[in-house]
Amino acid sequence: MTIETIGVIGAGQMGSGIAHVLAIAGYEISLMDVDADRLAAAVAKIGKDMDRQVMRAVITEEGRALALARIRTTMKLPELGESDLVIEAATEKEAVKQKIFDDLAEHLRPETILTTNTSSLSITRLAGGTSRPEQFMGLHFMNPVPVMQLIELIRGIATSKETFEAVRGVVDRLGKTAVVSEDYPGFIVNRILIPMINEAIYALYEGVGSVIDIDRSMKLGANHPMGPLELADFIGLDTCLAIMNVLHDGLADTKYRPCPLLVKYVEAGWLGRKVTRGFYDYRGDTPVPSR
Ligand code: NAD
Repeated sequence: MTIETIGVIGAGQMGSGIAHVLAIAGYEISLMDVDADRLAAAVAKIGKDMDRQVMRAVITEEGRALALARIRTTMKLPELGESDLVIEAATEKEAVKQKIFDDLAEHLRPETILTTNTSSLSITRLAGGTSRPEQFMGLHFMNPVPVMQLIELIRGIATSKETFEAVRGVVDRLGKTAVVSEDYPGFIVNRILIPMINEAIYALYEGVGSVIDIDRSMKLGANHPMGPLELADFIGLDTCLAIMNVLHDGLADTKYRPCPLLVKYVEAGWLGRKVTRGFYDYRGDTPVPSR
């Protein structure tokens, strides 16, 4: 099956980045969110990020204009049922995602393929709640989408070969690299990355080191481009906590217990860069530790 039209659900950090790269690759995009402000912010961010790509000669001015014209925004979920492919990139809450797929079901064309950008939830379980588990799979982009090369492909137990190949075709057209992960909590990247971030938060919680020294240790001592706390802020602390909870519940091992300090930051609404405060405070010219 050829895919030309794509519906992206959720216009947050990930949905906006996904719409951005798909539009540049020539797909017609419907970007949907329940929040009008998020939609407006997403379009503004995509425009700005494309400006930077024009400056760096990654795309031309004309390519930018054409790509932007391919992105349509909507708050009406049923309109996405007409798409060849749907990519769900809404908040990392199973109930939210299940309701989206439920509400979409009666509006879908028979051929439409459904995918989710979930960081950790069971693809088989999400697929089981839809009317078309054979046409459902995980399509996991990395953040920031325009920059990161990797995409994880995750089959549910019922995902058909045709569905898998059609979705792999989209990854190829984007010029990105796919890895295939089995459907286990966190898949490959987050199974390894998020416990490392959680351990860094434990190190802070137990007073092993300061925010600056923990991040500096991993940058200069392990050659990571970002420190783990800086990276947690970048991903979003709510997303990090949601993934740790999925690992903890799904693998039933106490080594995946979310650090109480992570829980506290999320309860305080200090969710990271997207709200200008997490382990760092981003309201000034340069980020400083928030406490
Ligand atoms: P985000 O908080 O930036 O954006 C989520 C968006 O979903 C918001 O704009 C919200 O208004 C919207 N939304 C909530 N309920 C909705 C609904 N019922 N219908 C339509 N839109 C709805 O979150 P994000 O970081 O973009 O994450 C989105 C998904 O991508 C999650 O599943 C997350 O696990 C996954 N993901 C995140 C990262 C990351 O680094 N942040 C990386 C890979 C995958």
